[in-house]
Amino acid sequence: MSMGNVMVLAGRVGKDLTDTTYELIGKARELAAAWGGRVEVALFGTADPAGTLGAADVVVNIDHPALSDYVPEAYEVALRRVLAERAPRLLLLSNDTVGLDLGSALSVLWDAPQAAYVIELSADGDAVVATCQILGGKILAEVVIDAPRAIATVAAGSFPAAAGQGTDGVEVVTLTPPAELDTTRVTLRQIIEPTGGDVDITAADLLVSVGRGVGSKDDLETVQELADALGAPLSASRPVIDAGWMPKSRQVGKSGLKVKPKAYLSFGISGAPEHLEGMREAELIIACNTDAAAPIFDVAHYGTTIDLFDLVPALVEKLEG
Ligand SMILES: Cc1cc2nc3c(=O)[nH]c(=O)nc-3n(C[C@H](O)[C@H](O)[C@H](O)COP(=O)(O)OP(=O)(O)OC[C@H]3O[C@@H](n4cnc5c(N)ncnc54)[C@H](O)[C@@H]3O)c2cc1C
Repeated sequence: MSMGNVMVLAGRVGKDLTDTTYELIGKARELAAAWGGRVEVALFGTADPAGTLGAADVVVNIDHPALSDYVPEAYEVALRRVLAERAPRLLLLSNDTVGLDLGSALSVLWDAPQAAYVIELSADGDAVVATCQILGGKILAEVVIDAPRAIATVAAGSFPAAAGQGTDGVEVVTLTPPAELDTTRVTLRQIIEPTGGDVDITAADLLVSVGRGVGSKDDLETVQELADALGAPLSASRPVIDAGWMPKSRQVGKSGLKVKPKAYLSFGISGAPEHLEGMREAELIIACNTDAAAPIFDVAHYGTTIDLFDLVPALVEKLEG
């Protein structure tokens, strides 16, 4: 329990752990190495997924019926116990509804400064240096925390998951559930899954994405033909969704979905920060926009200023011909 330990809260979706869990463990390894500490993962509910946490040094488990699904009150009680017992230097949470609930509560209860909307983290001597998004990513602020303990809530997709994946055996420490878990006042009634039926754009290797530059719902058909010819789903920027031309499940960006395809082909998308937030991790970005100054070209690996209505039909012809 050295002062240099880094604790990661494992995020769960049903039985599985979230990708972000592994992203945080990978970064935790780097930070713990700099501080001569260890990586510990707090895992609540059944310890079954501990087998996938081999990149950590220790899994700290608390199992109790109140922890089988995420309930803020119960998780807060459990995490306070873990922090009191293990005294990490830094607690890493995902910057989602869970992490934002717990981060702000524990910042007060555990008396630790919190950096939120974090996209980069490093160690500078004993201090934690965090790059945080402000105003939806329009401004990046560098925050240096040299308090003895700190909390960072980190945006999904900020670090590669591979560095945090491992199947080596890991030491599992089981803590006695705090008595307060028997008397929590909040219970989870029901999880309402989003209605499915549509494609999952976050799982696609190739995405064809369309923005307001397409002009109208009818003209979407042109780009849809290209997507069909490539066997890729069509995704979109927010104005296309807000106009009702495509379902919300296809929206890429801050208030939509974060995608990481092998290739992202964008047509008529300007590249606003809220859009880039959802797709800048794509391995290859190819952009078509008639405005050479459009910010999408700052992140694109290849780009063209050809009018999409000239380019897309020509591509379709080439693919089908
Ligand atoms: C809190 C908040 C959350 C948001 N969340 C999201 C989000 O999740 N996802 C998202 O996308 N946006 C989001 N936005 C909106 C975002 O700020 C932008 O308004 C939006 O991304 C712009 O969409 P666009 O690029 O399609 O449209 P525009 O910015 O209007 O760009 C259209 C582009 O098409 C180009 N163009 C026009 N005609 C052609 C042609 N014939 N051929 C080629 N190019 C052409 C133009 O040069 C222009 O660059 C959010 C905003 C806020 C404030």
